[in-house]
Amino acid sequence: MNVQGATGMAARFDFDLFTLGAGSGGTRASRVSASYGARVAVAEERYLGGTCVNVGCIPKKLLVYAAHLREEVEAAVRGYGWTVGPQRHDWATFVARKDEEIQRLNGVYAKLLDDAGVRRIEGHANVVDPHTVEVDGKRFTAEHLLVATGGWPSVPEIPGREHVITSNEVFHLKDMPQRVVIVGGGYIAVEFAGIFHGLGAEVTLLYRGPLFLRGFDDDLRQGLADELHRQGIDLRFDTRVTAVERGDAGLVARLEGGDGLTADAVLYATGRQPLTREIGLEAAGVELDAQGAVVVDELSRSSVPTIWAIGDVTDRMNLTPVAIHEGMCLARTLFRDEPTVPDHEDVASAVFSHPTIGTVGLTETEARERYGEIDVYRSRFRPLKQTLTGSEERTLMKLVVDRASDRVVGVHMLGPEAGEIVQGFAVAVKARATKAQFDATIGIHPTAAEEFVTMREPAG
Ligand SMILES: Cc1cc2nc3c(=O)[nH]c(=O)nc-3n(C[C@H](O)[C@H](O)[C@H](O)COP(=O)(O)OP(=O)(O)OC[C@H]3O[C@@H](n4cnc5c(N)ncnc54)[C@H](O)[C@@H]3O)c2cc1C
Repeated sequence: MNVQGATGMAARFDFDLFTLGAGSGGTRASRVSASYGARVAVAEERYLGGTCVNVGCIPKKLLVYAAHLREEVEAAVRGYGWTVGPQRHDWATFVARKDEEIQRLNGVYAKLLDDAGVRRIEGHANVVDPHTVEVDGKRFTAEHLLVATGGWPSVPEIPGREHVITSNEVFHLKDMPQRVVIVGGGYIAVEFAGIFHGLGAEVTLLYRGPLFLRGFDDDLRQGLADELHRQGIDLRFDTRVTAVERGDAGLVARLEGGDGLTADAVLYATGRQPLTREIGLEAAGVELDAQGAVVVDELSRSSVPTIWAIGDVTDRMNLTPVAIHEGMCLARTLFRDEPTVPDHEDVASAVFSHPTIGTVGLTETEARERYGEIDVYRSRFRPLKQTLTGSEERTLMKLVVDRASDRVVGVHMLGPEAGEIVQGFAVAVKARATKAQFDATIGIHPTAAEEFVTMREPAG
């Protein structure tokens, strides 16, 4: 393929690379490309750092902490001899603190780009032709264009959709809603159910399918549903919302069959769409799929040879570390003459529900399909901390092993700190560790994580 370094394309274009969107992927691709000597510009229309920093991972995780601190305090009182005064959460104080931190991060992103020598341009970027971008009436040319515009929440066309909020608005609510209806079955819906429940709201989660978190291991899905139900979250599967109305006592989510649920906020977390509209891609000849995602080859090149795309806009694996990885691979491909294919195998991820899910590799169902003969090791127990609090919470840990090679092909956990724990085990899965090597590893006692190296009897 024709990959060019920064040298030799001197003045034909204003830049070697022009990136649309300074989110997770666009920022990293721009910075790394500049560090390889490329002349880079990046246009950002809304906020530096993109979804993750402003309305995604970071503010969400801060909210998760806010919500679950309540349980910590309760556990301290119930099981550990503490006495504390009356508890009250002040939403406005939290939002102000969170906004300060996000602002700080926006500054960090600006500095990272500036220090790398990337030219930052504020405004909406529009592709004019395979080498030209327009931002607020000003045209820039580049050898390569990179589309890293991310995604946007999508809400179905139901009557009253103007009353609902999405993850874009939820972080900026003026008041904490006391009754929340959440619609959706993905990780964002599940996380916000835990957040609002933890902050003391009455939460109903509605999902049109039979069980949330499609694509995750079935034991984790069911285990989490049991836990949320036990905590008092009203979970309703196989349930559809037909309309949202504004009534005297608040918003009413009207269900199929006619029943209505009254709430202060109706949060739709029903998926995200790639942000490819009104940025000139189709006119430039860039192929989009039925969902609007940029179709790319394995090196992230679109159907137009000078236009590349990474991150959520390609709808491959919509996670921040993946967008960053794709950005680094692209910089290497374009400006180091090292064509580098992003690796989407065995990417670990977490659901910051309560308890948390951490997962890497194949689910039991996927492993059975791929390998046929597998062994599954499962352990379910009460976390040590809860032995004194009386909580019924259970941790679930699971290993999936390909019987023929003895390789551990899936590590799954539902329990406290599952994300932190599974991140470590993801290295072992990536390194193709065998069950025998897991068994040869001595555990750290007493931890939950030691269970992953002490499970001896397959469950089936
Ligand atoms: C509520 C929520 C929670 C999440 N939690 C996690 C998590 O815990 N872990 C995780 O790994 N991922 C999480 N994600 C997903 C993660 O945020 C995305 O995968 C990641 O941000 C994708 O990066 P990106 O660079 O593709 O796009 P983005 O980060 O969305 O960046 C795209 C940027 O492009 C800009 N832009 C768009 N169009 C234009 C234009 N025409 N001109 C100029 N600028 C433009 C946008 O303003 C934006 O800043 C979460 C997402 C949401 C919504």
